[in-house]
Amino acid sequence: MDFDVLVIGGGPGGYVAAIKSSQLGLKTACVEFDSTDDNKVKLGGTCLNVGCIPSKSLLDSSYKFHQLESGLEEHGISAGKPKLDIAKMMDRKNAIVKKLTGGVSHLFSHNKVTSIHGKGQLLNANTVEVVDSKGKKKSYTAKNIILAAGSRPINIPSVPWNGTSVIGSSGALELNEVPKKLAIIGAGVIGLELGSVWSRLGSSVEIFEAEKELLPMLDRDVAKVIEREFKNQSLNINLGCFVKGSKTSRNAVALEVEIEGKLEKKSFDKVIVAVGRRPFTDDLLGKDCGLKLDERGFIEVNEFCQTAIANVYAVGDIVRGPMLAHKAMEEGIMAAERIAGKKMEVNYDLVPSVIYTHPEIAWVGKTEKDLKAEGVEFNKGNFPFAASGRALAAGDSAGLVKVLADKETDQVLGIQIFGNGAAEILQQGLIGMEFSASSEDFGLTMFSHPTVSEALHEAALAVNKQAIHIGN
Ligand code: FAD
Ligand code: NAD
Repeated sequence: MDFDVLVIGGGPGGYVAAIKSSQLGLKTACVEFDSTDDNKVKLGGTCLNVGCIPSKSLLDSSYKFHQLESGLEEHGISAGKPKLDIAKMMDRKNAIVKKLTGGVSHLFSHNKVTSIHGKGQLLNANTVEVVDSKGKKKSYTAKNIILAAGSRPINIPSVPWNGTSVIGSSGALELNEVPKKLAIIGAGVIGLELGSVWSRLGSSVEIFEAEKELLPMLDRDVAKVIEREFKNQSLNINLGCFVKGSKTSRNAVALEVEIEGKLEKKSFDKVIVAVGRRPFTDDLLGKDCGLKLDERGFIEVNEFCQTAIANVYAVGDIVRGPMLAHKAMEEGIMAAERIAGKKMEVNYDLVPSVIYTHPEIAWVGKTEKDLKAEGVEFNKGNFPFAASGRALAAGDSAGLVKVLADKETDQVLGIQIFGNGAAEILQQGLIGMEFSASSEDFGLTMFSHPTVSEALHEAALAVNKQAIHIGN
């Protein structure tokens, strides 16, 4: 055999699986087919190239611009009208992407992972055929194979992409001028994050969402606060509406939208389609390889990411569960460890989610709706950031922390946060939840003062009506 482990896909699921396999003493290679102009392998997948990292770079840059424009007056600071150099903002983002993707190549060399350039296809339990950019084929054999081919955006027939006026998330991370009027189809994670970026930079943004409720995965009391805040930020979100058709030219799009049963015509400079992603399995499975896709196109795996062929694993966006980089990475590590004979498991009950708007939205575990459906009795504690000294000092006091705990055992079962720093605060709650902490455990832990994390402390105390800084 050529390798102990052969990974197809160099995104967070694949590159982490490859590094871990090599660290565990297995002879490892990773096949990745995207190529840059200089024809070098482009590692890092969606996350580093066109996802998590470039979007956060633009979120941070646009937030600074917006703060300078209108967020500092209450602190007694005025700097005049800020000037936007969008080319420089994009260059900065591209440099960060280059640094991190180059970092993965460096980690491969350091960990002795062989990088193979080309498109991989699973032929059978031990063979992968790779076609390079010139069409040349070569087969490799491996004792174990990990599939990590990721996902691609979903297209909708009523508004087909044309790469200029109708774009997906990747195009929306590359714009070289601020659209005057921007429509976004889908008020999910990408819609809210990229809507925030372009709205802060000056676009008039209108979002069209098919669901009647914003963020249906959250409890309504939390979602209502979010909806109100986004209205204040001029993110104009239309719920329960459908885009029926579109007329596009290079620089303009006319949308026909059904809003509350009425057809309306609206014109925009650009439209971003952000209605979800699909597993990317095109040509990944050879016709006699022995694996099949489920009805939604995902590769079927057990709880350890093992496919129907015992030595073939699949991880990340091509398998069930949330399409998140940290979930892909954990699954990559689990696959490598299982191949090496270790017993690692992923705790699928505690996969955190974050939407990096301002304020951030972060949650983990069960919602009230989940607990009611499961017949679990619970207590809840809420704490608004408006009662947090640190949030007020920062001038960033929108939102709240909500903690749900089992009524009988007091174990914390869910946390939802909308507020400045929510992603980092959630992580503290998550560590407690991993160790089955009760709301009392959180209450007995000392939190530095003044921090925004104290809101988590107080919300946990509020579960048993013990909060100090709000009425119980
Ligand atoms: P991918 O990252 O998609 O990587 C798969 C790789 O496999 C790709 O490089 C592809 O070229 C390669 N490949 C595919 N088929 C083959 C083949 N046959 N042969 C060889 N190579 C192949 N998640 C978060 O957790 N946090 C965020 O903040 C976040 N922000 C995002 C923002 C945007 C705009 C988008 C689009 C996504 C974001 N995500 C975020 C989701 C995250 O990017 C994905 O969940 C994650 O990248 C999935 O990792 P993966 O390894 O499964 O797949
Ligand atoms: P999403 O599933 O988060 O949101 C898609 C939204 O589009 C949903 O609200 C859905 O109801 C709506 N929708 C679907 N079809 C529609 C239609 N025809 N008209 C109007 N609305 C429609 O998907 P996304 O925002 O495209 O993101 C894709 C994936 O990328 C997600 O799974 C997400 O996990 C991942 N991602 C994560 C982050 C993060 O972790 N911060 C950021 C960006 C993307």
